[in-house]
Amino acid sequence: MKRELIIIGSGPAGYTAAIYAARAGLQPLVIAGPEPGGQLTKTSEVENFPGYPEGTLGPEMMEDLRKQAERFGTEVTYDLVERVELRGHPKRLWLSDGSELEAEAVIIATGSSPKWLGIEAEQRLYGAGVSACAVCDGFFFRGQPVAVVGGGDTACEEALYLSKLCSEVHMLVRRDEMRASKIMQARVKAAANIYIHWNTLPVDVVGEKFVEAVRVRNKLTGEEREIPIKGFFVAIGHQPNTALFAGQVELDSNGYIITRPKSTHTSVEGVFAAGDVQDPIYRQAVTAAGTGCMAALDAERWLSERRYLLEASGQASA
Ligand code: NDP
Repeated sequence: MKRELIIIGSGPAGYTAAIYAARAGLQPLVIAGPEPGGQLTKTSEVENFPGYPEGTLGPEMMEDLRKQAERFGTEVTYDLVERVELRGHPKRLWLSDGSELEAEAVIIATGSSPKWLGIEAEQRLYGAGVSACAVCDGFFFRGQPVAVVGGGDTACEEALYLSKLCSEVHMLVRRDEMRASKIMQARVKAAANIYIHWNTLPVDVVGEKFVEAVRVRNKLTGEEREIPIKGFFVAIGHQPNTALFAGQVELDSNGYIITRPKSTHTSVEGVFAAGDVQDPIYRQAVTAAGTGCMAALDAERWLSERRYLLEASGQASA
């Protein structure tokens, strides 16, 4: 089936693009992907999205965005894209249910995913105490000690969430300062049961079937010791979900899609990128939504221009 516009991804960027594109009459199809609603469905309270003086819950916000997009004629399919051919026209996409789609234009809004440390026990004990999502898994460690790796806003947010459930939260910060915003740092420092371990690296997670402790090394002294914990939460940043597009759309050295300055145009005509997949700097729900809007406007203009040129050349040859 051929579409005018397909949007890959259903986070704030994808749904905002869909709202704008649908209101412009493009009847977009959103392919929701492996995590419908994106990363905000894994967060609890969102306090910094303008328009919510009391804050809102991430999953509720994404539900509202989906309904808003559908209200104007967006269709959402809960499928995965397995392969794409974006060069040339039309753009072609193959889904995990075996179907093949064609589109005049495509907006990529596939977001990013949590990074892992790369230690062996991390994957072995994933789901048995190792996690990258406090909101998803914190409940399992009620009244027990846990560790959070990282010193960014994500790590602070995870630590604060866990501090309300767990007996002790050990934050493992690899430098002598945090990258997190001042307000988040102040909050973790004020929490009675959050212990910040500066200059500290996790070197191993101890446990056969379940997490029992984390082995840490002090970067300055080289001293190693074990901290008994039941949950090990990794919160060290994200990587863009661009494996599908490698070799087709130009990526930077970290795998983020490169867009033309002040636009969402990628290196391929008719392919646009919005949200965290093209943004290693801001990575906020509101900036993702902003670039989603830009992508829909860019796509709409590009489609109109293309239509005009095709019609003009059709008339010329007639
Ligand atoms: P960041 O990249 O900001 O922070 C990553 C943290 O993990 C840093 O402290 C980094 O240390 C540390 N780190 C990275 N690799 C390792 C490693 N191998 N071992 C140990 N520590 C490591 O990522 P975040 O996910 O925290 O935040 C991303 C963006 O999202 C930011 O712009 C942030 O402000 C925003 N955000 C906002 C929130 C909010 O406002 N509510 C909530 C969550 C995120 P180092 O500093 O030494 O590099």
